[in-house]
Amino acid sequence: DQTDTSLAPGIVVTHHGHDLLIEDSDHQLHRGRARRTVGRLTTGDRIRWHCDEQGNVMIEQREDRRNLLIRPDAYGKKKMMAANIDQVLVITSVLPWMNPDVVERTLVAVFALPATPVIVLNKADLLPGLAADERRAIEGNIALWESLGFEVIRTSVKSGEGIELLRARLHEQVTLMVGLSGVGKTSLSREVTPSADQAAIGEISTFNREGTHTTRASTLYRFPDGDGGLIDAPGVRDFPVEEVPSTALEDGFPEIHAASAYCRFNDCRHINEPGCAVRAAVADGDILERRLEQYQAMR
Ligand code: GDP
Ligand code: ZN
Repeated sequence: DQTDTSLAPGIVVTHHGHDLLIEDSDHQLHRGRARRTVGRLTTGDRIRWHCDEQGNVMIEQREDRRNLLIRPDAYGKKKMMAANIDQVLVITSVLPWMNPDVVERTLVAVFALPATPVIVLNKADLLPGLAADERRAIEGNIALWESLGFEVIRTSVKSGEGIELLRARLHEQVTLMVGLSGVGKTSLSREVTPSADQAAIGEISTFNREGTHTTRASTLYRFPDGDGGLIDAPGVRDFPVEEVPSTALEDGFPEIHAASAYCRFNDCRHINEPGCAVRAAVADGDILERRLEQYQAMR
């Protein structure tokens, strides 16, 4: 892919139809259109642009995408939601507490994108008030995820716990948040988006309101310093995956992948084969039965 350096770099922050809102490297917003040869663009696309004689912003090129999130719209038609996602915050909360299977399925989907998942346990302030058994169940899952090498950040919008850590984790990264309704996605976004950004947010909302489309496109809210930002993708709460690449499954189930190296057969499916090290580990209590069932279901 040839990149013309006489053109200015930019990033698509949102769009409706053929109207695009882009941000340049000085964090200035511009409305523009793309040359037909560029093809369809989506939020997060990195582009090259210039101003023509009439002062119109014209997008001339798109850089190769690192990844592309595609989701069916209300009519089942596949739609580009966002591109170049660095990491996905898989948000769960003390209340509502998400089924751990859902979190773990989402991790695999994030690895499949590919992007880096970070688990966020929000409303940590509610933990002490829980009944002992409920609290143990949540702590047990968090400890399991940490032991498997997944990053977990505990946050509370109420007490401020973990917010600084989360901000640092988001800096310079393009991040998508997913999680059930009510876990605190909106509250957390407000905490991590600096107030200096409010003018830009106002401009973006004005642009979005002008759209005649009933389904709003995703929006990238860039942080005022650096290259990072938060993607607001309406309707993207979870991440169903149709086809799971085996590497994403291995990344999501590292303990099963590690044990499978000791199975007698290379192609062991860990169902009823003799010499299956994974089933042996489940029998010994080293691997949770729930995790193996989940792995089988995803494969
Ligand atoms: P969303 O649906 O994921 O965007 O969730 P919201 O951000 O709208 O939050 C849902 C509810 O949870 C609201 O009433 C928030 O005030 C509340 N909430 C969000 N974060 C926290 C938190 O850290 N602790 C507590 N106790 N409540 C929170
Ligand atoms: Zn096996």
